[in-house]
Amino acid sequence: MPTVDWARELRGRSQPVTIGVDVGGTKVLGAAIDSLGNVVGQSRAATPDGAAFPNDEAAADRVIEAIAEVVLSLDPDPPGGDPPALCVGIPGLVDDAGTMHFAPNLPAGVGVDFKARIAASVGTRRVVIDNDATCATVGEWLLGGARGATDALVVTLGTGIGAGIVSNGALVRGAHGYAGEAGHVVVDPSGPACSCGRRGCWERYASGSGLARLAREAASAGRLRGVIAEVSGDPESVRGEHVTAAASAGDPGALEVMGELGWWIALGLANLTALLDPSVIVIGGGLVSAGELLLEPTRRAFAEISYATHDRPQVRIVEAELGELAGAVGAALVARGESRDTTGAVGART
Ligand SMILES: [Zn+2]
Repeated sequence: MPTVDWARELRGRSQPVTIGVDVGGTKVLGAAIDSLGNVVGQSRAATPDGAAFPNDEAAADRVIEAIAEVVLSLDPDPPGGDPPALCVGIPGLVDDAGTMHFAPNLPAGVGVDFKARIAASVGTRRVVIDNDATCATVGEWLLGGARGATDALVVTLGTGIGAGIVSNGALVRGAHGYAGEAGHVVVDPSGPACSCGRRGCWERYASGSGLARLAREAASAGRLRGVIAEVSGDPESVRGEHVTAAASAGDPGALEVMGELGWWIALGLANLTALLDPSVIVIGGGLVSAGELLLEPTRRAFAEISYATHDRPQVRIVEAELGELAGAVGAALVARGESRDTTGAVGART
């Protein structure tokens, strides 16, 4: 539910307000921002069950309904004039027309014309569809941890990995809007199967599901005795949260697993840094709630394995400042055409 009376806020402000929505694997988050970037309303709904299955039209309908519910709770009664512009960030490859073509973490949405469907559900308003990680990148670049940087990476570590690139002062979108899929850069061709249909993608190792796998392996090898006791001795029941909780309590085995996770995160970051030479890397997503327990081993491994690490300026690795709202706030910025580069050119979708 909105934390602010959105309609009253809107009437009291002369600045245009825009709405952003971030569709994640477990929740749909919405934010309304004013022209200064202040969050003046937020809303959430659960991502409907079934969204993880392909060709499920009923599930796709429920995803659209959840998005509409979030938008309408932020803007239930627009007080005349043009309603606020809206951008929805979705987890997959989205073309310029707003149709999703590939989405390992939201298969029910593949082939869905999100732009037309959402526009039909939320009344007449301008709707922009963009990639969720691209939206989070815009948010952190303009208002968060990468503020002022000409070259930055924003990496969200959740169920999978989302990423966005700022290079030479501009958001990198690629020829088709598909740039930044760093989670599916292969780090081990013989590694575990990925939801994208290939093997050994970075997100199999350095995401929430990667942590769960490392934790199960450590538990099976008898390295997580304290955690194992909590789950009745079954290594297969060990989840990532068990490890982060045990690590924050100082459990040596859990700290070792966090170190392994940090190494895998650092491996991908080092590869991206060799390619793109950022000055700052912003880490967001659910995993970053572990804070320094995760960032410290990541920085340490990054310094050890980066290319020419002693002969280049240090890359700052920092936590996302906008927290779980990075994607929604970034989407609201995209909605008003604010994925500008530092020279003023606009990289937003229209
Ligand atoms: Zn993959």
